[in-house]
Amino acid sequence: KKGWDAPTSLKMVIESFIRQFQSMNDAYMRERAVDIEDMGNRVLANIIGISANEPISREPHEQTILIAEEVTAVMLAEFPSEKLVGIISIRGSNNSHAAIMARAMGVPAVMGLDNVPIAMLRDKEILLDGYTGDVIVSPNGTIRHEFDQLILEEKLLSERIHSEDTLPAVTKDNCTMSLLVNSGLSLETEVSTNPYSDGVGLFRTEIPFMMRQRFPTEQEQVELYKGLLESEPNKQFTMRTLDVGGDKPLAYFPIVEENPFLGWRGIRLTLDHPEIFLVQIRAMLRASFDLDNLNIMLPMITSVSEVSEAKRLIRQAFNEVEEEAEEKGVRLTMPKIGVMLEVPAVLYQLPQLAKIVDFFSVGSNDLTQYLLAVDRNNARVAGLYDSYHPAVLSALHSIAKTSGFLQVPVTVCGELAGEPGGVVLLVAMGYRKLSMNTHNLLKVKWIIRNIYQNEAEQLLAKVVTLNNPGDVRSEVNLFLETTGLGGLVRAGN
Ligand code: PEP
Ligand code: MG
Repeated sequence: KKGWDAPTSLKMVIESFIRQFQSMNDAYMRERAVDIEDMGNRVLANIIGISANEPISREPHEQTILIAEEVTAVMLAEFPSEKLVGIISIRGSNNSHAAIMARAMGVPAVMGLDNVPIAMLRDKEILLDGYTGDVIVSPNGTIRHEFDQLILEEKLLSERIHSEDTLPAVTKDNCTMSLLVNSGLSLETEVSTNPYSDGVGLFRTEIPFMMRQRFPTEQEQVELYKGLLESEPNKQFTMRTLDVGGDKPLAYFPIVEENPFLGWRGIRLTLDHPEIFLVQIRAMLRASFDLDNLNIMLPMITSVSEVSEAKRLIRQAFNEVEEEAEEKGVRLTMPKIGVMLEVPAVLYQLPQLAKIVDFFSVGSNDLTQYLLAVDRNNARVAGLYDSYHPAVLSALHSIAKTSGFLQVPVTVCGELAGEPGGVVLLVAMGYRKLSMNTHNLLKVKWIIRNIYQNEAEQLLAKVVTLNNPGDVRSEVNLFLETTGLGGLVRAGN
């Protein structure tokens, strides 16, 4: 093969043979793909001078791009973060939890790189553009220079944004926004406190469960949650109950399903296993002794009865923990209880839900997935997953209006709330609380400080008449450019 070194060329040829064998009709011949692979690996091992049986494991290089068939959230959590400068996942998409985690870590990631054998990328110098999804292997001087320019522009923009970090999040026509952070995806690399935030709008509790070989004990959870609640005791901290399932599996609690995103996920699983739910709630409550900043949020709510059942269990846990609080002479406050709005069914049950919860929080990631019937993790249909789809925008708008009418506080905590165009549209819809990863917070504040709410409303009025997400994106980008926020357009893609 032209342009590739011997090991890479060999690997490409072997892989094409493997594909050929795998597509054969005869089962015996299909099986021979394994032999080809084995033989290929032996020759390859000889060429690169290692024993075929020796696993290729070594200390990551100082500046490593992690490349895998499918990069998972756990892989990212386990990788030495100080050495991680980029991520390439051959499968998966930009909306997976691994991608959300990469954004939270501020590491560029390209998800869903079709038809590229990993061997082609191993040990190569790679330029990676997380905004455009470009991956350039062994770049020449001109391209390097272009990337240096882009990095410099990004740095200048970021300095400008940071120069306004202490100013309030208020639009030019005095609409005040509350900005919160999402945390929990990577406990070490991502700080859940942010001096410029109004609190934590979404703490995802899954990763501490995924990183272990067994369920964390109540005491282990108490210690973790206590540290978090105490870190900023005067700010609200919203903890979400366990939302495993979908693309967040627990190795020690395997779930085998045809359609995991339509399956046993979030509240469905924890209501079927109240012991898991009760331990977690008790841990949250015990962690909140003498504090009053805990809010509890329930994921994947589809029916009002799930909320009633969850509230019954929360009350049970509260009664149990209350005794302990009395014995210890510490204060225990009943937390506010809210639900994620992320399954389309709840759009039609807001008045009923409003009667039994203290707040709503819109999970635009799943709302987009379920409204559009597009698996958020499937690279093949990733092009169809778009929160700018008119149906998604209409749903978001309707939630804002109805929540306002019902006087239920509402936050948006999906990725849209941290994206430049999304912020403008959400402000226009009437949302006043946005929760995003900590890296995006100052950028979002800068956007808010540079727009007029009434101009955002005019933009919204225009985009709701459009039929294609692409047209919406063009209008929104044009708005950002004419508002002097053009530098963020690239970053919003
Ligand atoms: C969402 O669905 O928008 C959300 C915030 O939750 P998660 O991404 O963890 O499913
Ligand atoms: Mg969700």
